Amino acid sequence: MKTEPKGRNSKIIHGGLDPAEHKGAVSVPIYQSSTFAFPSAEEGAARFAGESPGPIYTRLGNPTVQALEACVAELESGCGAVATATGMAAVSTALLALLRQGDHLVMTHPVYGPSRGLVDKYLTRFGVTATYVASADSAALKAAIRPETRLVYIETPANPTVDLVDMEAAVAAARGAGIPLVVDNTFAGPILQRPLEQGADIVLHSMTKSLNGHADVVAGIVVARKPEHLKAIRDVAVTFGCTMDPHQAWLVLRGIRTLGMRVERAQRNAMAIAEWLEKHETVAWVRYPGLPSHPQYALAAKQMSGPGSVIAFELHGGVEAGRVMMNSVQMITLAVSLGGVESLIEHPASMTHKGVAAEEQKLQGITPGLVRLAVGCEDVEDILGDLEHALAAVAAGAAVAR
Ligand SMILES: *Cc1c(COP(=O)(O)O)cnc(C)c1O
Repeated sequence: MKTEPKGRNSKIIHGGLDPAEHKGAVSVPIYQSSTFAFPSAEEGAARFAGESPGPIYTRLGNPTVQALEACVAELESGCGAVATATGMAAVSTALLALLRQGDHLVMTHPVYGPSRGLVDKYLTRFGVTATYVASADSAALKAAIRPETRLVYIETPANPTVDLVDMEAAVAAARGAGIPLVVDNTFAGPILQRPLEQGADIVLHSMTKSLNGHADVVAGIVVARKPEHLKAIRDVAVTFGCTMDPHQAWLVLRGIRTLGMRVERAQRNAMAIAEWLEKHETVAWVRYPGLPSHPQYALAAKQMSGPGSVIAFELHGGVEAGRVMMNSVQMITLAVSLGGVESLIEHPASMTHKGVAAEEQKLQGITPGLVRLAVGCEDVEDILGDLEHALAAVAAGAAVAR
């Protein structure tokens, strides 16, 4: 028997693939087929009964998609995973699988805007209620749990402020109440943070971000620690039809193989950039889990094996300064998203969070001059040079010519 690779990079590179199962192919083939022939009526019956693992129909399962699911489940130390069409499909599938009418959930804030919108706008329609607590306030999280609370949902580091949630405290609170803890692990990714190993029950990702890493696919995945959760999640994904297609899975598999190298390099760049930004006169403050100035620096060191590559910082000069900076960057791309090989920048107050009421923005820490910088894998000197140029424009109060 072959020995299983133990190192995380080896798992990322070989996960989900046994060439012997695919005529020796070293890249998982794209099984571009909607349906699969049964060799006999008996075998067809066995597959439907779940007694034989063979494929039936792509919405229910596809070998290319299953290879990706196996790879990510292993990285996150789960019992299995369900790949979804988008990251939001992962969020909605997990919540729909675990909640029913009359249930209550506790969610931290800030979180990815549409995740909050899903609860506020849609789950409330079906009689689900929610309490939102600040990421850093573990006591409030525990206190918000009521008898009808059926799930705790956290995102750490949180979008876009890079605040952290204390995973150990959240696990203790959820376990104390006998309810599952769901973690959106998109920002850190499975190299730097593995919530299931820390006691969470379900972890999900927008694979659009670092897992795929090349800004060319939207995709999501939900990983469970327990088979009963996995089954409930798979049933919802299959029934609501938000599963992944094989071509999409192949692209993510292609991207994920280099995850280790990309994360390492982007993080190294981010550390240097965060230190540099902290010294810049146009920058009021920097929030990055790798800097001792992050209020949860010690927590980051405890629950993450690295600070990641997303930096939040506040410009002196508020909204206008943000606008000028966005219009002044050249190589750094003005676009939402993160975790790709290219550096991306955005200004939450005028873009992603413009629709959030001013009071709510304040509550969630979305300050007027807040900038989110998702650091990529370019040469750090070029990123710094571009930032220098854009911050000079901010200091001068006008966008310099692009
Ligand atoms: C992008 C993102 C999502 C949603 O993912 P999509 O692939 O865009 O649907 C969810 N959570 C976080 C933290 C994200 O950054």
